[in-house]
Formats: sequence, C-alpha cells, structure tokens
Amino acid sequence: MADVLIVGAGIGGLTLALELHRRGIGCRVFESAPEIKAVGVGINLLPHATKALGELGLIPSLKAVAVETAEAAFFNRFGQLIYREPLGKRAGYAWPQFSIHRGDLQTVLLDAVRTRIGAERLHLGFHLTSFSQNGTVLARFRNGEAVEGGALVGCDGIHSVIRQQLFPAEGEPRYSGINMWRGVTRWKPVLSGASMTRAGWLKGGKLVHYPIRNDIDAEGRQLVNWLWEIETPAYKRWDWNRPARVEDFIAGAEDWRFDWLDVPAFFRAADVVLEYPMVDKDPLPAWSFGRVTLLGDAAHPMYPRGSNGAGQAILDARALASLLQTMETVEALKAYEQQRLAPTANVVLENRRSPPDAILREIYERTGDRPFKDIDSVISAGELKALSDRYKQIAGYDKRTLEESQP
Ligand SMILES: Cc1cc2nc3c(=O)[nH]c(=O)nc-3n(C[C@H](O)[C@H](O)[C@H](O)COP(=O)(O)OP(=O)(O)OC[C@H]3O[C@@H](n4cnc5c(N)ncnc54)[C@H](O)[C@@H]3O)c2cc1C
Repeated sequence: MADVLIVGAGIGGLTLALELHRRGIGCRVFESAPEIKAVGVGINLLPHATKALGELGLIPSLKAVAVETAEAAFFNRFGQLIYREPLGKRAGYAWPQFSIHRGDLQTVLLDAVRTRIGAERLHLGFHLTSFSQNGTVLARFRNGEAVEGGALVGCDGIHSVIRQQLFPAEGEPRYSGINMWRGVTRWKPVLSGASMTRAGWLKGGKLVHYPIRNDIDAEGRQLVNWLWEIETPAYKRWDWNRPARVEDFIAGAEDWRFDWLDVPAFFRAADVVLEYPMVDKDPLPAWSFGRVTLLGDAAHPMYPRGSNGAGQAILDARALASLLQTMETVEALKAYEQQRLAPTANVVLENRRSPPDAILREIYERTGDRPFKDIDSVISAGELKALSDRYKQIAGYDKRTLEESQP
C-alpha cells in the first residue's frame, strides 16, 4: 500500500505514525509548524492510554518526565475534603496514570518517531490546505507541495482543515458557557505530592491542580499545572496559546486559603497564564470518506475536563492502525469509524452532562455556597463512588473493561 499521509504531528498524529510503523505500514507525517516547541500546559494520561503507549514501549520514557498520579481528591471552595480515591497503579490497575506537560508527551512521541521511523518522514512547515481523491489521495500544502498517498488521516486538531472540507457547513466550535484560565506554577509538593485535585464549583470558580514535573530545582519544587474555570457568557476566541493575566480572574479566588494551599499566592507565582474557552463540537454522523478519515480532536473535540482528549486520540490511533493491517484501505477506514465514532461521541456528550467533577456539582447543589459540618450528612460514600465510577465506564477505563480488552 502507498504511504498513509498523516496531517498533524500532535499527540494523535505521532501516535498513529508509531502504531503504523509497528505493523509495517509506511507513513509520512505533515505538520504546519516549522518547528515543534513544547507548547501547552498539563495533560493527564489515564490507564487506557498508558496501556496503549505501553504496547509501544514508551512507559520508561514517559515515567522519566511525568508524575505518576497517585490519587484524585475533591474539595469544596473552603478547602474541606469531599472525596478521595486512589488512581492508576495505586487503584490496582496494571497501568499507571501520568500527569505530564503536553510538550513532554509530544517530545517523547517525537523522539520515538524520529528514531524508529526516521526524521525524513516528518515534514515540518507543511500546512495542509486541501485534498482530493480518485483511487489514491492527493494532499496539497500551503508551501506549494502536493503529495500522493494511499490514505489521508486528519490529525489536525480542533481547527481541522480536513474536517472543514468534509463538512463545510459545520461552523465554529460550540462554547460551553465556561471560560478557563490555565497555567503552570513552580511550587513545593502538596497533599500526596502526586494528587489530581479539584476544588469549588463553576458558579464561584473551580480549581484543578496537579503536578506534572518532579524535582525541578534544588528545593524539590514541582511544576504544577492548574486550571481556573468559571461560568460566564464572556470569552475570547479559542486558541490553545492565548496569553492571559492572573488579574483577569483572581478576584474570585482571593479568599481561597486552604491548609494545603494558599490559592491566590499560588496563582500569583505562575510562570505561564493562558486563557481558553471550554469548547467542543457536536459528534459527526460519519468521519471516513473513501481514503480520507479523521482522528483525535479533528474527529471529536471534547471539553478538556475528563482527561480524555489525548487518551481518546491514542485509542483511535491504535484502532485505525490495527484495522489497516488486516483490511483493504477503504474498508479499514470505514471499520475504524464504526469502532470509534460511537464510543468517542459518548465521551463528548458525557463531558457536557456529567464529567468526573460532577461530584463537586452535587455537593454545591446540596450545600449551596456554604461549608458543611460533616460530609456524611451531605452525601454517602457509596454515592460518591458511584458518581466517580460512572465516568470511568463511559470513557472506557474502568478496570474490568481494560483488563478484558485485547492488546
Ligand atoms: C498548541 C497546543 C496546545 C495544547 N495544550 C493543551 C493543554 O495544555 N492541555 C490539554 O488538555 N490539551 C491541550 N491541547 C490539546 C490536546 O493536545 C488534544 O486535545 C489531544 O492531545 C488530542 O490531540 P490531537 O493530536 O488530536 O490534536 P492536537 O494536539 O491539537 O494536534 C494537532 C496538530 O495538527 C497540527 N495542524 C493543525 N492544522 C494543520 C494543517 N492544516 N496542516 C498540518 N498540520 C496541522 C497542529 O499544529 C498540531 O500539531 C493542545 C493542543 C495544541 C495544538
């Protein structure tokens, strides 16, 4: 088969290249950016994603740069503990959960692509502008180049040009009503030193806090990823790298002083502050057309609130490569759509309805904006666990599903 042309060297595109190469299928990767820089802030890789990356032999490289997430902890905005549960290997999974800088994850994948497949198969400064197909597929780039291949996979993210050509009437992403400020701060370890922490609720502001690099200086500080989310009709255009200022949002957090974190001081010490409205798109009716298909955010952009954006792209990559190994191209692309469209659409919709932080919404609705005396009088431990488990099942990383799924 002629090469698979992969458009986009993000998490999905690079993983797909590695998955195809592992199966002896030729591919080339085309990326808009003239060089790949460590942009973005933190990402979490759940056990379904690390299982797949483990099969690619990448766990040691990830472990060297990431923080192995040990627990999830939920607090109200007064710093009172609501619920805590172990994660990853601590929760009995055979695979770890990692909190990682997006740039570090991309670098691990990129290094593997260069070493295993060859740097000459990665084309930087190639921004796809359009494609056509007729027995083969022809990809056209802004730099004037045109490349022919056996299949074209749009791994070109939420602003996908390939998706736009397939669905010209679709329009812009859909705003959730929640604006997010994201950033990183160098800080001494708090709680377990590897906790994924969420606090508050969207009316008054919600904090997400997790370390993504250990021991970054002589004082043993970590690089900590954070998010501040607030319900508001006001937002600016979506751009993963739009710079912002702490002053834009800190007023709502001024009295957030927990025994484990002085939240305003933590925000003020940030190295990087970015603003990003929470957006997604409605699930598509189809995404494979002849020799062309979509993968990752291009296929199913979702709210970044369940740690699933990168994970679902990684699962797509494994599914598509494995089908291309055993089927004729057009048939494989359709089978991939049949396998992955419905499960990823479920995650998109569940992230809107009831994400993992639904626990915080539940407590906010039961207590109002007030501290509680005793969490057991607000909600039972069983209800809390059920809320947490529900999301794992929908997103496909509950322990039983993972253990039973084929490698
Ligand atoms: C700059 C950036 C920063 C991000 N930061 C975060 C973050 O901090 N936290 C988080 O949870 N998620 C972040 N994300 C999103 C996250 O990476 C994705 O949700 C997830 O990993 C799925 O990855 P993907 O490969 O489908 O898409 P992406 O990771 O978005 O990758 C898409 C790639 O395609 C390239 N591309 C786009 N258009 C074209 C074109 N026409 N031709 C060629 N190449 C093209 C882009 O430059 C990019 O490299 C970020 C994405 C980007 C692009």
